[in-house]
Amino acid sequence: MTDPKSPAPGQGLDPADWAAFRQTAHELLDAAIDKMTANREGRVWTPFPPEMKAAFARPLPQEGQGEAELASQLAALLPYGVGNTHPRFFGWVHGSGTPQNLLAEIVASALNANAGGRDHGAIYVERQVIAWCREMFGFPETASGLIVSGTSLATVIAVKTARDAALDFRSRKEGICGDRLVGYASAEAHACNPRAFDVLGLGTEALRRIPVNDAYEMDTGALRAAIQADRDAGLTPFLIIGTAGTVNTGSTDPLAELSGIAKAEGLWFHIDGAFGALARLSPEHASRFAAISQADSIAFDFHKWLHVNYDAGCVLVREEAHHRHAFSDRPDYLKGTERGIAAGNPWPVEYGPELSRGFRALKVWSQIAGFGTERLGAAIATNCAQAAYLSGKVAADPRFELLAPARLNICCFRLRPEGLEEAALDALNEEIVLRLQESGVAAPSTTRLKGRLAIRINLTNHRTQESDLDLLLTEIVRIGEGVRP
Ligand SMILES: *Cc1c(COP(=O)(O)O)cnc(C)c1O
Repeated sequence: MTDPKSPAPGQGLDPADWAAFRQTAHELLDAAIDKMTANREGRVWTPFPPEMKAAFARPLPQEGQGEAELASQLAALLPYGVGNTHPRFFGWVHGSGTPQNLLAEIVASALNANAGGRDHGAIYVERQVIAWCREMFGFPETASGLIVSGTSLATVIAVKTARDAALDFRSRKEGICGDRLVGYASAEAHACNPRAFDVLGLGTEALRRIPVNDAYEMDTGALRAAIQADRDAGLTPFLIIGTAGTVNTGSTDPLAELSGIAKAEGLWFHIDGAFGALARLSPEHASRFAAISQADSIAFDFHKWLHVNYDAGCVLVREEAHHRHAFSDRPDYLKGTERGIAAGNPWPVEYGPELSRGFRALKVWSQIAGFGTERLGAAIATNCAQAAYLSGKVAADPRFELLAPARLNICCFRLRPEGLEEAALDALNEEIVLRLQESGVAAPSTTRLKGRLAIRINLTNHRTQESDLDLLLTEIVRIGEGVRP
């Protein structure tokens, strides 16, 4: 007889047979480790086959299928990543992850912690990570921070804090009706910055896009002029966003100068350091990023150049009170206490828009604790040396044309056979990148620089070897010869 008030083993959602579950879990763990052991081998990207797509287009199941069947379907997914765990993934800006991170993910999953608040281990682990980040970027001990999904959300949090601080936090109740706030970022700034303006009701046009110089860095003369023009027009400048490592070329705005302008003008200075800011961990590159410590806020990612498995990013805010005032709102059912589970104040929910949140901090903590900043910084320096190596080879080879000075970890170039018009060169290089991706040999992405289509090689990959870059160039030439009529 079944009692509806007391589910028997197997009637709740726990395994009916723990021994069988343990066996299944161990096998799946082995399959996962096998996949990771082979990360350097095989194809970069393997398209998701039609039968797999069909397997994920079924109607809502009324009956579950049992653990063994489930585990085999989970394992079947393992070959079909985008390719970012492979040494020849060079597209966009993707971190390559570490097997070690799996250990933290197992514990986080077993704990099933909700890190929105309350007094438990996850809260203290996150505080440790935030403290380490303050140290990494030279922020004061009083600065606050929050781990989020990535730089996009971190930017929304930073820009909201800057917006509300500029309006004496009236905007939290009254909105921004009547206030015409404007901010500034370079023309090369990432799309998440205007998107934050959009999300926050400021409008993307309120983020002025300042032209860049030949090195793709913000033109500070143009910035000064834009601020003055906006003031003359009766608008209220409130924010300058400097980028440490632009997504197109890896350039970095003159951060110290931007910080000086922000101070002189009374504006909030935010840094988009999604990947580039982490170059502070490499002694060789740190000095270019010294002025990060002067910023009012920074948004950056752990899942890019620190190779934490997706997803994890962070926002730091110099003035903790500003950060808390922009988000804190504790209704009766979320009141803190001095003792018991509701202690552990302040809670992370006071620093961002999310209440329930997973234990992302653990995989970040484990990455930093497990490898240490020297080794993580060395992997960053290696990628920079590789970008310089690639750029040197491209510049020395008349079949190629370098399209931007190689900065940091990104090299943009194109194959340039004689006698082709610009439009034909664009089409040729685009086709080369598509064929490279489809062949499984390598995965660059493309961008446009000064109107020209560039093969864009981004190195945020701790598995890449010099030989991978040599193979890349050989394949580009070989495919290029095949594409041409
Ligand atoms: C990737 C990136 C972002 C967006 O970060 P997400 O983690 O994808 O949200 C913002 N800025 C720069 C410079 C980036 O490279």
